Amino acid sequence: MTDHERKHLVEISGAGPAGLASALAVVRAGGRARVYERRSDVATRFHGDFQGLENWTTQGNVLEELAAIGIEPGFEHTPIHEVTCFGPGGDIERKVRSQQPLFYLVRRGSEAGTLDYSLKHQALAEGVEIRFGETLRKLPRGGVVTEGPHRADAIAAGYLFETDMADGAYAIVSDRLAAKGYAYLLINKGTGTLATCLFSDFHNERLYLERCVDFFKRKLGVRMNNPRRFGGTGNFSLPQTACKRNILYAGEAAGFQDPLFGFGIRFAVLSGAAAGRAQVAGDYQQYESFWKHRLRDYHKTSASNRWFYERLGDRGYSRVLKHYSQGWDIRERMQRSYAPRLWKRAWYHLVAARFHTPLLDPQADCDCTTCRCTNRTRQPSSA
Ligand SMILES: Cc1cc2nc3c(=O)[nH]c(=O)nc-3n(C[C@H](O)[C@H](O)[C@H](O)COP(=O)(O)OP(=O)(O)OC[C@H]3O[C@@H](n4cnc5c(N)ncnc54)[C@H](O)[C@@H]3O)c2cc1C
Repeated sequence: MTDHERKHLVEISGAGPAGLASALAVVRAGGRARVYERRSDVATRFHGDFQGLENWTTQGNVLEELAAIGIEPGFEHTPIHEVTCFGPGGDIERKVRSQQPLFYLVRRGSEAGTLDYSLKHQALAEGVEIRFGETLRKLPRGGVVTEGPHRADAIAAGYLFETDMADGAYAIVSDRLAAKGYAYLLINKGTGTLATCLFSDFHNERLYLERCVDFFKRKLGVRMNNPRRFGGTGNFSLPQTACKRNILYAGEAAGFQDPLFGFGIRFAVLSGAAAGRAQVAGDYQQYESFWKHRLRDYHKTSASNRWFYERLGDRGYSRVLKHYSQGWDIRERMQRSYAPRLWKRAWYHLVAARFHTPLLDPQADCDCTTCRCTNRTRQPSSA
């Protein structure tokens, strides 16, 4: 048996940010990683559209946090310090600013320069095996499940296009344009992404998107050349456990995502890497401790924030926007809103049913990646 074969093999289902970060962590911890990706390449649900790698939940910089776990920022990442926000009527314009980057604009998709392309190539360079076009349903020897969302708590729909508009980041909070969510327009170096992010009324997605296009055309004169549609779902439900027997769940497959605004990349990479390390160490408790310590309280706070946000309505959005744009550094304000607080965690428990996940059933005694079977541990008979 060669050295390579002797190394502990960890199988991973899904080559998103969580899966690729997991595979990188496995090889760096001395194991072998094999990733199964049902599509023909990474991130085929995206087409080079812009997303934000959030930099507001912690004081530390997200890129440094990723570098500390061995993820190089070999992808395009433009720091964003200012966002122009519009209130519900669209007439009140407020700028929110931060000294440190509020987020980094990254591109998602399979092409060079995207986050996903960079992670894929970092993984391949480290000897990770990626099997494209293979769907995994079971992990009989254990492994890591990073299959992304399996249900929709939020959906986003938008257009990617070319434009001659100047660079800028814009957002609008309005239930008419994005039910219980927000809409955004991001322009960078001649490419634009315009989208609505809905947390309710998903069936009218098309209508909301049309209204957003109208709004940004009217307000900013946005010109969209060669528009291409994109869209997808997001899942944010805190699990009781992210471990089923010897299978660890990470990224959105575990429900790890910011419930307030649907930012999931950072949690996906962090949880994926931690799951990979724990698999090589054979210490599943290490992973449970990691996510409970690093992610759980942020998640609960963000979920509580979402509960309140959903009750604001258009008047409330206006008031919050005014408050957040008044001479404050928005990043500091956001940090305070996301900082785990006892009362918000307590509130979360009152409203937790709104964020319940049926995906990961810790009682199920099976090796399915998502519990499609009905095998459950039999309760010992009391007789
Ligand atoms: C339109 C849109 C905009 C977004 N904007 C932002 C943003 O601005 N900032 C942010 O932080 N987040 C954003 N998100 C969320 C972010 O994209 C996700 O949180 C993140 O990609 C989750 O990473 P993941 O690795 O957990 O899952 P995914 O990226 O979903 O990757 C899962 C992978 O697993 C594969 N797969 C699924 N099932 C199987 C199987 N059985 N076998 C093998 N492979 C399988 C899938 O094909 C996929 O490639 C957005 C999401 C959408 C849809």
